[in-house]
Amino acid sequence: MKPFDSEVISGLKKHIDDLKSQVVIIPHVNPDGDAMGSSLGLARVLKNAGKKVKVIVPSPFPDFYNWLTGSEDVLVFSSSNKKQAEFELQHAEMLFCLDFNDPARTGDMKETVEKFRGTIVLIDHHPYPTDFTDFMISHPEYSSTAELAFHVIKSIGYEKYIDQSGGECFFCGIMTDTGGFNHNVSDPQTFQTVSELLTYGVDPVEIHGKVFDNYSADRMKLLGYCLSECMEVFPEKHTAIMYLSKEIQKKFNFVPGDSEGFVNYPLSIKGIHFSALFTEKEDHVKTSFRSKGEFAVNEFSSAHFNGGGHRNAAGGQTELSLEKALAKFRNLLSDYAEELEKTKQ
Ligand code: 5GP
Ligand code: MN
Repeated sequence: MKPFDSEVISGLKKHIDDLKSQVVIIPHVNPDGDAMGSSLGLARVLKNAGKKVKVIVPSPFPDFYNWLTGSEDVLVFSSSNKKQAEFELQHAEMLFCLDFNDPARTGDMKETVEKFRGTIVLIDHHPYPTDFTDFMISHPEYSSTAELAFHVIKSIGYEKYIDQSGGECFFCGIMTDTGGFNHNVSDPQTFQTVSELLTYGVDPVEIHGKVFDNYSADRMKLLGYCLSECMEVFPEKHTAIMYLSKEIQKKFNFVPGDSEGFVNYPLSIKGIHFSALFTEKEDHVKTSFRSKGEFAVNEFSSAHFNGGGHRNAAGGQTELSLEKALAKFRNLLSDYAEELEKTKQ
């Protein structure tokens, strides 16, 4: 891992040491385990250090993260909570942006974030951050923002404020962003970090169960239905797609988080190293892309579906209908045939 910029770290430490009012922490819209884990872990540590902290999430988070300490105090931004969010930010000296690289990733909160006049700190592992912060700690080589935040905390001398609850949050972020330690885990530091977290009393088996064995029966039936009825495989393009129409979501009582992990399943088919999931929302279609090897889904997503992310995990959206989005994707596959053929698994 690249060393931290010592000037950034000492400046950040001074700001945190000297805090007089509260800090606000915000992760990206549709928060996942890393967004929640890194934000709540940092919040816990800063609270233990006697700081006043508010976590605001741009949209609701799945129920299977509501065991994370501090999740009960999270403000979920919506048009009716806009005033409260603005109030919190007006009374904050610092804003921490976690697990995203551009204010556009905060969805409807974008304007509220852009109005903030205090010190902005970015702690993130997505490539290509935009220049909107005072302190930028952007390290795409990290498995997760949670792992990065843990090391930032240590580097400013706040390790003594990490406890079991905080450790659980960081562990949750690392575990979910690596798909249960399946990808982005080639650097020995990641396992060293996990090993350190266990010394705080974190129980990996318990946390794995809380996140991955906590789904509803409807969700499992939805997964089965999708795999059998809504998956198309293009073996010669090494690609598979899945889609979730509004009708299917209704049939299986869909709630946020139910489709988490779906996009990974097609990658377990022999020869498939590009997978896409299309989820029909109220006024757009959300896209999720995953790949194995060289094929850069963040570039694909940014070129065709207004998105971005990591090389092997990216997302985006389109205002096209579900049918048109799927047709667009199928047509694009021929343009990428050579690249997909070359890509090693
Ligand atoms: P997911 O498919 O799980 O929503 O997202 C996969 C990865 O891509 C995550 O790291 C997420 O932060 C990022 N991502 C998801 N949607 C977007 C998007 O619309 N724009 C950008 N820049 N990144 C996204
Ligand atoms: Mn992440």
